[in-house]
Amino acid sequence: SPIVSAFIAHTPGSAAAYEEARTHFPGGVTHDARYVRPHPLAIARAAGPRKWDVDGNEYVDYAGGHGALILGHAHPAVTAAVAEQLAKGTHYGANHTLETRWAELVKSMVPSAEMLRFTNSGTEATLMALRVARAATGRTKLLRLRGHFHGWHDHMAFGVTGHFDGTPTPGVLEALTENVLLVDPNDEAGLRALMAAHGDEIAVAILEPTGSSYGQVPLRDSFVHLLREETAKHGVVLVFDEVVTGFRVARGGAQEVLGIRPDLTTLAKILAGGLPGGAVVGRRDLLELLDPERAAARGVEKIPHQGTYNANPLSAAAGIATLEILRDTDAIARAHAYAAELRSAMNGVLEELSVPWAVYGSNTGIHIFTNWKKLPITPSSFDPLALGYADLKVPRGTQVVTKLLLAMRTHGVDFSPWPGGPVSAMHGPAERDATVAAFRAALRDLRA
Ligand code: PLP
Repeated sequence: SPIVSAFIAHTPGSAAAYEEARTHFPGGVTHDARYVRPHPLAIARAAGPRKWDVDGNEYVDYAGGHGALILGHAHPAVTAAVAEQLAKGTHYGANHTLETRWAELVKSMVPSAEMLRFTNSGTEATLMALRVARAATGRTKLLRLRGHFHGWHDHMAFGVTGHFDGTPTPGVLEALTENVLLVDPNDEAGLRALMAAHGDEIAVAILEPTGSSYGQVPLRDSFVHLLREETAKHGVVLVFDEVVTGFRVARGGAQEVLGIRPDLTTLAKILAGGLPGGAVVGRRDLLELLDPERAAARGVEKIPHQGTYNANPLSAAAGIATLEILRDTDAIARAHAYAAELRSAMNGVLEELSVPWAVYGSNTGIHIFTNWKKLPITPSSFDPLALGYADLKVPRGTQVVTKLLLAMRTHGVDFSPWPGGPVSAMHGPAERDATVAAFRAALRDLRA
């Protein structure tokens, strides 16, 4: 295809880097989401909303460090904080004052955070949240929503895409799936029926509170409120997975905007300012199960939790620098405003070219609905809440999406693969105009 040929001609250095990567890494990548044929980009450096590949090509970036970078790449305050800490040591194997400052900031911003434990990733955070919930309730079952992603550990990674769809995953005990109950997003009747039948066996319910994949399949607020009511009624621990939405939807995450207090919340990504890090935060009485004295006083065994790099000083320094900016400036609001402007400008291009797609999303999200089922929609009439999971979720590797991603790259924009992206507070009019021009050019290429 001309789109693939143009991309290959544009990125010879990335192609060569990928040839070597394939000799080291299965599939030539170190994260499944980076896999794309003919080859992914090999990036050499990044600053603010932009990045450059090994051939020197410049891109407007909408990968956003898989969502970790609301302040863009190499924000001066973050790099200065990390550099300062680097000179003081990267690991003390001991308590330090940065971790307590970091914890204090998290607690001041996230409404339900009474206590917390830091982890190294979102995956570790959801693993611990499940463990706490099961220990606290003495129950086993896990309730989750179809398509919601909570990391790749065995209790969460079901289905070959990693996004839960009820199918088994190679290498994961099928017995684990017996403990999983599945509801479709926004299926209130299904949720009520399931809770009526099994509510008292369920230890934990977990969800991405604005919907799966950064809100690609958005949830109705009323559905999330119903889930809070039903879980409270049946003594189920409700976990908001705010790995993506934390410090993004608002300073206090989706829970602040929804006005819902989850029992536990998992955080990562923005939390650690672009370095590795995560946390499980929430109710004191639940997290005290990790405290040897409190657990003993309750006559129960303490929940174990280790992790060499938990709250390491570099991640703490980057996290503090990032969260302080988000707390003290309008960075989150600026990112939201940019995303809204870009969605509307991209929809303008779709209308101009009469393409029956739509660009949608909320907060910092850009979601491109490529309409693979050929539904009769226009950008202005499009309402994602009127559609279901199966309509909105594009099967991975769908030709049109791959071609769109490659054509956008050739024209200087790197979207996330779903397709779309989180935007940062550093994106501005120049990035908007470049993105709109690239989108127009890519759509013309797709038509040709
Ligand atoms: N939960 C959600 C909602 C995520 O989007 C992700 C990662 O994309 C995770 C958990 C896993 O986090 P990590 O990649 O830090 O393990």
